[in-house]
Amino acid sequence: MGLHTKAIHAGLQPEKHHGAVSVPIYQSSTFAFPSAEEGAARFAGDSEGPIYTRLGNPTVQALEEAVAELENGRGAVATATGMAAVSAVFLAMLNQGDHIVSTAPIYGATRKLIEDRLARLGVSSTFVPAIEGPEAIRSAIRPRTRLIYIETPANPTLDLVDIEGAAGIGKIPLVVDNTFAGPHLQRPLDLGADVVLHSMTKSLNGHSDVVAGVVVASDPAIIRSVREAAIAWGLTMDPHQAWLVLRGIRTLGMRVERAQANAIEIAQWLEGHPLIEWVSYPGLPSHRQYDLAKKQMSGPGSVLAFELRGGIEAGRVLMNNVRVITLAVSLGGVESLIEHPASMTHKENVTPGLVRLSVGCEDVDDLRADLAQALEMVAQARAKAASLDGR
Ligand SMILES: *Cc1c(COP(=O)(O)O)cnc(C)c1O
Repeated sequence: MGLHTKAIHAGLQPEKHHGAVSVPIYQSSTFAFPSAEEGAARFAGDSEGPIYTRLGNPTVQALEEAVAELENGRGAVATATGMAAVSAVFLAMLNQGDHIVSTAPIYGATRKLIEDRLARLGVSSTFVPAIEGPEAIRSAIRPRTRLIYIETPANPTLDLVDIEGAAGIGKIPLVVDNTFAGPHLQRPLDLGADVVLHSMTKSLNGHSDVVAGVVVASDPAIIRSVREAAIAWGLTMDPHQAWLVLRGIRTLGMRVERAQANAIEIAQWLEGHPLIEWVSYPGLPSHRQYDLAKKQMSGPGSVLAFELRGGIEAGRVLMNNVRVITLAVSLGGVESLIEHPASMTHKENVTPGLVRLSVGCEDVDDLRADLAQALEMVAQARAKAASLDGR
C-alpha cells in the first residue's frame, strides 16, 4: 500500500474498539483481569491483553503498529520523548566497557548523552565526520564497538550519511535517527539499518503540541529488548500523547509534501539572494551530497540551513525581524520555525551566520515575503554599521 494510505489507516482496527474510527484514548493506568488465571497468563506473556499502562496500553499500541508499518519494521516501541527513544536504544544495546561510533554532527542533546551520560556508565565513544561517510566509520571500529549511530540528514548542517554503506560494517548494529526525513521520505530499515528512531515531536506529530519518540526495528529480538529497557527505566508513553501523535500521522504525507514543495522554492530563492553565502539543502544540486540524497531519500524534506553574510549580528537581526516565521527551535511542524544555532542550540562547531529554517505549510509567497523583508533589515543594519565604521 502507498504511504498516504498507510498513514491514514495504519493501527486503525475499528472492530477492536466498538467500531470507533478514531482509536479511543484508553485513559487508564491499569486494566481489570477477567480472572486470576487470565491475569497470570498476561504476565506470563501467553495472553495479549493489557496489564498496566507503563507495560503497554491499547492506544499506545495502535500508534506503535502505525509507525512500524510506515517504517516497514516488524514492531515499534513508543517513548515519552525523542531522547527517551535514544536512551532506550542505548540502555538496551550497550553494556559497561562497550564502545559506540557516531557520526557528527548529530542532535546536540544526543551528543551530550553519549559524551557525558554514556561515559559515566562506562561506554566510550568516537565521533567521525558525517561527510567522511562509511570509510571513516569503518576505521573508528574497535573490538568492543557494539553500536553505530548515525543521523541523516544531520542537525543542523543537513549533512548526509550513506545508510547502505554504514549498514553491516563488522556486523555491528546500525541505528539511524530518521527524525529529519521521516518515514515518508526515507526508510532506513529498507536500506539495511537495524534500528530506526524518531523524535515524533517533529514531523510525525507535526503540530508542535506534543513531545514523543519511537524506536522501530525489523528483528523482534531487538524490539523485545528495547521494550524491556523502556519499561524498566520508565521511558514509555502516555495514552493521551499517543492519540495526539496518531492523529498527526493521519496527515503526514500531505504535510510533508506541501512543506517540502515550499522548502524547495525557498531554498532556490535563498540561494540567489545577495546576503546568503550558501544554502545547505539536499534538494539543491549545490548540496555536496546531492547524489546520495537522490539515492537514499525519495524527497529532500523541509528543513534547510543557510549561512548569512555578517555572522552572529546578522543572525540576530534576521531572528528579530521575521513575522510570519516563528523564532523557535524544533522542526517538522505545520508552522515555519527559524533558529540561529550559534546563539541558541549549538554553541560550538557551527559557523556564526548559520541559520536553520524548518519550512512549514503556509502559503509560500508569504514565507518568501517575510524572509525578504527580514533580510532587508539585515542589509540596512549592515549598511548602518559600515557607515559608522567609516566615520
Ligand atoms: C528533537 C530531536 C531529538 C530529541 O527529541 P525530543 O522529542 O526533543 O526528546 C532527537 N533527534 C533529533 C534529530 C531531533 O530533531
